[in-house]
Amino acid sequence: MNKLEKLAYLKGLVAGLNLNDDKKDTKVIKYLMELLEDMVLDMENLEDGFSEFQQQLDEVDEDLGAIERDLYEADSSKSDNTKSNKKKKSKKTKDELYYEVTCPTCGDTICLDEDLINVGEMECPNCGEKLEFDLDN
Ligand SMILES: [Zn+2]
Repeated sequence: MNKLEKLAYLKGLVAGLNLNDDKKDTKVIKYLMELLEDMVLDMENLEDGFSEFQQQLDEVDEDLGAIERDLYEADSSKSDNTKSNKKKKSKKTKDELYYEVTCPTCGDTICLDEDLINVGEMECPNCGEKLEFDLDN
């Protein structure tokens, strides 16, 4: 049973009680029923609106995904280098050597790959201290 069906069922039950309209209890029950009906109807409307909103959001999301794909494709055809570089880097952890350098100023440990080592120097990403490496391979 959904909420509307439950409400209808409940209304039927209340009607079956043959409540005396003059009694205070009856007024309370009727008022509660009215309030309940309002709330259920409001909720149904909200839920409808929400699922509509969700559908729209899904569509926007799909559109955005399509735009993103288009952008990436356009980007990769323009600058293929940056993309293939990125791919290589993520592989490096497996088959290429990393060097760990400890910054003498802040004690931070920095991972360097061979490319950076070959440059010979860099700034510590933590404190900005200029680090120089002189490795004998
Ligand atoms: Zn440092």
